[in-house]
Amino acid sequence: MRILAFSAILLVIGGFYWKKNPATTSQAMEGRPKNIILMIGDGMGLAQVSVGFANNGWKYSLESFPVVGFQKTIAANNLVTDSAAGATAMGCGVKTNNNVLGLDVNGVPCKSILEEALENGYATGMVVTSSIQHATPGAFVAHRVARNLYEEITEDLLYSNIDLFIGGGKQFFDRRERDDRNLLDSLRRKGYNVYDYFNNELSTVKPDVSQKFAFFTANNQPLPAFQGRDYLPMATKLAANFLEKRSDKGFFLMVEGSQIDWSCHANQIEPLYSEMQDFNKTIEQVIQFASKNGETLVIVTADHETGGLGLNGGTAKMLSPKFTTNGHTAAMVPVFAYGPQSELFRGIYDNTDIYHKMRAAFGFSEN
Ligand SMILES: [Zn+2]
Repeated sequence: MRILAFSAILLVIGGFYWKKNPATTSQAMEGRPKNIILMIGDGMGLAQVSVGFANNGWKYSLESFPVVGFQKTIAANNLVTDSAAGATAMGCGVKTNNNVLGLDVNGVPCKSILEEALENGYATGMVVTSSIQHATPGAFVAHRVARNLYEEITEDLLYSNIDLFIGGGKQFFDRRERDDRNLLDSLRRKGYNVYDYFNNELSTVKPDVSQKFAFFTANNQPLPAFQGRDYLPMATKLAANFLEKRSDKGFFLMVEGSQIDWSCHANQIEPLYSEMQDFNKTIEQVIQFASKNGETLVIVTADHETGGLGLNGGTAKMLSPKFTTNGHTAAMVPVFAYGPQSELFRGIYDNTDIYHKMRAAFGFSEN
């Protein structure tokens, strides 16, 4: 009798712990994220991700992501999307035509997740390895019929009130062809501390969180990683720490490994290796931040695949990659999610659902 009672107590205690521990874990996953970091590897299909693994001893930061999905990348007017339509789909939740930024197929502006977060009192930022006016970042702040309207996109960026941006494209602010305005002065008047690679080292800049923050890494396009560009991990860490202090509500940060795409357009494998290494280090920084912070949803995905890359044999250390095109392809691209509400990103869905899932994670009401 005594033994039976003792066993019963053990069972109750055991049951309590068995129930309690998974519940604690899933509660952490079920809460709303305060922050979302969306990381876009431009042109980063599954083969590019595999190259990242292979070049790193078959290890990569993405292995710590518990949730994996796939997104369909088709544009409104083309099976094969470009970065403008792809980023508009993910940023705004609408399918649009290639070449178009932040407008639907009828030319009506759509509000991006970044713009909505800003309106709701969140801090917002973008860190890229292209010019800050390029297609992917452009789709989050600009509304233009063509992605190459860089000076007009600069004006949209200026009036967006984004809290932080780091990337190239300084010349579209201060050496304009459309007008002779110096929009760097306009940035300062709007409360930005403005830095550039020529006069400042990003590693020694101490951002003042009472001001907005702009850092230019190039006049136009930053160098590729294989030629020495290495700021993305550091800039991303700086951005997350800055935005965390900038609003009590939380933040939205978009980070782009822009030149994964360019190395694949060029059908060059060595530059792709270094871009994937750079992106790996950046993801590591983000995971370090998110695991410490505990309230950050991290999504890593791509806008499309570039190069039709095949991994045709070779050895574990030395791949034998082949590109089938110097353009983009329609292959689905992977989505990796980590942190609160990451479960939303399981499965197969349209690129526009990335936007809807991020809104649902933040708890923004349906329009
Ligand atoms: Zn491309």
